[in-house]
Amino acid sequence: MYIPYGKQLIDEEDIQAVVDVLRSDYLTTGPKVAEFEQKVADYVGAKYAVAVSNGTAALHIACLAAGIGQGDEVITSPITFAASANCVFYCGGTPIFADIDAESYNIAPEEIEKKITKITKAIIPVHYTGQPCDMDLITKIAKRYGLFVIEDAAHALGASYKRKKIGSISDMTCFSFHPVKPITTGEGGMVVTNNEELYKRLVLFRSHGITRDGELMTENQGGWYYQQLELGYNYRITDISCALGCSQMNKLDIFLEKRCEIAARYDDAFREINNIKIPKQLEGSQSGWHLYVIQVIGKKRKERFDKLRAMGIGVNVHYIPVYKHPYYQKHGYDGCFCPNAEEFYDRAISLPIHPNLTVEQQDYVIAQVLDSMK
Ligand SMILES: *Cc1c(COP(=O)(O)O)cnc(C)c1O
Repeated sequence: MYIPYGKQLIDEEDIQAVVDVLRSDYLTTGPKVAEFEQKVADYVGAKYAVAVSNGTAALHIACLAAGIGQGDEVITSPITFAASANCVFYCGGTPIFADIDAESYNIAPEEIEKKITKITKAIIPVHYTGQPCDMDLITKIAKRYGLFVIEDAAHALGASYKRKKIGSISDMTCFSFHPVKPITTGEGGMVVTNNEELYKRLVLFRSHGITRDGELMTENQGGWYYQQLELGYNYRITDISCALGCSQMNKLDIFLEKRCEIAARYDDAFREINNIKIPKQLEGSQSGWHLYVIQVIGKKRKERFDKLRAMGIGVNVHYIPVYKHPYYQKHGYDGCFCPNAEEFYDRAISLPIHPNLTVEQQDYVIAQVLDSMK
């Protein structure tokens, strides 16, 4: 038996939705892309959505749409997947890491403010584990200094901050539909926005910077004509993927409910255990519970981790502080040090949480975690 930390849940409806597309006229850039975009936009309360090939591509085109380039700094969290910072490098900009808050594990607004310089252009807050960042404070800081906010909501589709769904708050919000994420399209991502200008730029960057829109082109020579206006990419997503996405969206709330139930069971099991610190859910927020991360206090994390792996539990560690990776160390981040992030990294263990996880599996995880702490 092996219990992974995260896994997709695919049912017959999902399979049928994909098969239907395979029998249809369009395999890519057909009706399912627009349908999926509309479904996610409606769900999160955003005006516009641009579906792309993966979450990293979503972050990349969001940075491009915000005009990030050489000489620009963008502030993000060190406790995230590397893509949250790499997207800034892709555009020629410089990612800057602001330390996390020791309670929420999300980027700390006061640390963001310390890192702002004359060349800061944007903030990329990451809703780590699905728990929303302090968006009121982050929005206030962004307004004061004239910065873009691009939310990395790869963990947080369905999460809400003060009764607002993540995706309805900032300039742009990016989602990922990788199989371990809240819903899946196999590979996939999306940017949502309420800003029409940004939306138009996102659409351009998704497909080579090419348009057929007469209002955007400098001239129009007729039916065959199109123009490349920007250096864009091929970040398109297929109709096959989007059909799966539409079908998965119908189940998002059920998936979230399941994740909340599991988190509550883990909370109850570990709350009173001395060597375990359980994650906090902040007042006024509803986490998406993409991850359930415990901190091992005063005991060697690695021994506990190895023991749990040996017992067939796919525990994981999210994340190595991004600036610790050799690529970053070689590119000017060898002096970077975020104390809260490093302490958190030394203690963190992600436990299995996904809609497939049976009560028996949860009980087994709980028993093995308790045993490993002895
Ligand atoms: C998964 C993830 C991404 C990247 O998404 P992909 O779809 O895998 O490209 C970006 N940021 C965070 C925090 C993620 O967890």
